[in-house]
Amino acid sequence: MEKIQSVRGTYDLYGAAKRKMKKVVATGSQVVEKYGFEEIETPIFEFTEVFARNLGDTSDIVTKEMYCFEDKGGESLTLRPEGTAGVVRAFVSNGMQQNLPVKFYYSGPMFRYERPQKGRQRQFTQFGVELLGVETPQADVEVIAMAYEFLEKLGLSGQVTVEINSLGDAQSRDAYRAKLVSYLEQHYDELSPDSKERLTRNPLRILDSKEECDKKVVENAPLYADSLNTESKNFFAEVLRLLDKLNIKYRVNNRLVRGLDYYTHTVFELTTDKLGAQGTVLAGGRYNGLVGQMGGGNVAGIGWACGVERLAMLLDKDIDLPRPIAVIPVGEDAQETAMLIAQQLRQAGFCVEQSYSGNMKKRLIKANKVNAQYAVILGSEEIMQNLVTVKNLDSGEQKTVAMNDLVKEIR
Ligand code: ATP
Ligand code: MG
Repeated sequence: MEKIQSVRGTYDLYGAAKRKMKKVVATGSQVVEKYGFEEIETPIFEFTEVFARNLGDTSDIVTKEMYCFEDKGGESLTLRPEGTAGVVRAFVSNGMQQNLPVKFYYSGPMFRYERPQKGRQRQFTQFGVELLGVETPQADVEVIAMAYEFLEKLGLSGQVTVEINSLGDAQSRDAYRAKLVSYLEQHYDELSPDSKERLTRNPLRILDSKEECDKKVVENAPLYADSLNTESKNFFAEVLRLLDKLNIKYRVNNRLVRGLDYYTHTVFELTTDKLGAQGTVLAGGRYNGLVGQMGGGNVAGIGWACGVERLAMLLDKDIDLPRPIAVIPVGEDAQETAMLIAQQLRQAGFCVEQSYSGNMKKRLIKANKVNAQYAVILGSEEIMQNLVTVKNLDSGEQKTVAMNDLVKEIR
């Protein structure tokens, strides 16, 4: 029989890879909690319209990447492809507008039907934040500073660039779109087939096409900055000024647009050149219209999300597990005492491995295999005198100590 496989683009996470992902999420949580963000967990599936209506019906996610299904009651449901729509839905469903600002973080699996490759999966994990109810540039800067500190704490800030742009308000965005379309129409024949189609559906997306022929056309496209109205220009200038104040280095990238319809004003990405085409590790922006679109009134929002697997791949050092103590009984009679001592040590806070079977030599080999720091060896004669042998497995040094002093001795 053929061996049973996981679904294409999905992975079993364990061992070193899982440890790194855990570290990414733990570090992220620690950093954002310092900024007053609290964890939220929203359902993994939502009504399809939560995503279909709000991410933009021409976005890549909605047109080709969503896992939609009909449940047994005939409802159209979708596995969440991203976190923001669900958090904003929860914000509106629970009437959280009464107590602004609202600051949430989340982590968990997301699902997108994409072509699997390194750093691109069909089920992947995001860690993200959303800040609702603050309209001023301070929010943009705080959220970016938080992302930066997060990567710094992971030891990655040196290999990551902050790219930033402004899409301006709705008026600026419309003005730019018109200019861009009229430019691209003049170069229609040079565009890739995909981009020819995007020209009517989602022209902004052509700006971040990865096709060489599109890149060439885009090089001379009108600049976003020239279409921003005064208000939008001032807003962006203030964001950049405050980033300078905080000493956060960034690069203004006029070509940076985000693929979703809900973004306004500031958009940003943290990128690395270490993951090939999958170089974006964290991305976000301001979404002032989204809450309103979902019927929650005029509430501004800004947030980001990172790919936990992509960040974990950048951590080159393995994450060490705590080194255990191996408790080794010699002979049948010592088994029970070994179990009691193991329990006692665990209660004192140590990580303890019991070697379940075999003679002393075999058990010592096992102890080394789990990278134990000490072995506590129990012979039946020693037990009668309330003694144990403690062996330092690094130095080989060993010592007989009274059972009552064991915890103290190992500390
Ligand atoms: P890309 O341009 O790589 O497709 P995106 O714009 O679709 O990225 P976002 O929706 O902004 O990505 O998601 C935020 C982050 O989540 C990305 O920067 C990336 O690190 C991660 N991510 C997105 N899609 C995937 C995927 N299919 N597999 C793994 N990680 C992903
Ligand atoms: Mg994508």
